Amino acid sequence: MWMADSQQNENKLMKALVYTGTNEVTYREEPTPEPAAGDAKIRIEAVGICGSDMHAYHGEDARRVPPLILGHEAAGVVVSGKNAGQQVVLNPLISCGICLDCQSGRSNLCADRRLIGMNYPGAFAEFITIPEKNLIALPEGMNPVHAALTEPAATSLHALHLAERALHRPIADGRSLVIGGGSVGLLAALLLRSHGCSEIMLCDTNPLRRETAFQTGCCEVFDPDQDTEKIESSFELVIDAVGMETTRQMAVRAVKSGGVMLHIGLQQGSGDCDFRKITLSEMTVIGTYTYTHTDLQAALQSLYRGKLGDLAWVEERPLSEGSSAFFDLDIGSTAAPKIVLLPGE
Ligand SMILES: [Zn+2]
Ligand SMILES: [Zn+2]
Repeated sequence: MWMADSQQNENKLMKALVYTGTNEVTYREEPTPEPAAGDAKIRIEAVGICGSDMHAYHGEDARRVPPLILGHEAAGVVVSGKNAGQQVVLNPLISCGICLDCQSGRSNLCADRRLIGMNYPGAFAEFITIPEKNLIALPEGMNPVHAALTEPAATSLHALHLAERALHRPIADGRSLVIGGGSVGLLAALLLRSHGCSEIMLCDTNPLRRETAFQTGCCEVFDPDQDTEKIESSFELVIDAVGMETTRQMAVRAVKSGGVMLHIGLQQGSGDCDFRKITLSEMTVIGTYTYTHTDLQAALQSLYRGKLGDLAWVEERPLSEGSSAFFDLDIGSTAAPKIVLLPGE
């Protein structure tokens, strides 16, 4: 009967950080989720705050309706089922697996995809349930805080794979510009460096972020409000990791003839852009969205093998202090492009 008793204990309430209204996340008790057939129950060890969580926090994402547990960049330990005890990182995109997109390796485009922290409760919590097929085992001894970077790193990696197909020369042979020094932008710069690209520039309006990017040693940094003359038509590859009208305009200005612009950021849906230049310079503009399971696996390996540096720029805070973490990210008072929350503390 001890099994039944321990099961009983797990039916208790858990602590979670709940998005309760515009500019408000509340640390409170929630029912502990129990796995359905085919699902695993995970005890979360580390979970990053994403730009999209910030977007929801501002009340700007109609798909994320409060009250909702946000968070999808998570690593933890399986506590039920056949993989119990295994440390894992979560693939937060739950796709159908049978449609044409899923079958052709583009599960990120599955029309039936669901996301934890949006359509399902997220990982800013002690526990989560998720389909077993969405688990990726952590390499032995890997720090779960670093593993929590897998999702943003996979986003950047997926984008670079798309760029490689559109560039007529290897990425390493050209100059690259990254607009935006958040985690996706910085990880893109680190990935470019690990791909052998030697001339990488990154710009951000926040001086703290610029300093953090500079400290990694992977790129030259500058303030986009100060010196933009030097970027004119001089990059084979430009990554807009912000996605505003102004950053898109800057990206188009910066791309060289025959070059590629990767559009990852989702801040503003519309706005003017120099399509005449896009045409005259035969530029390839690529919209790039999330990642596939394979991208996540590859990103995890790159992080584990140290190919993206020591990752010292990640800030860790207890989940219980999640509210102030959201606040600090909002006002730009932290130098860290990524804050990872720890439910165990
Ligand atoms: Zn994310
Ligand atoms: Zn599908």
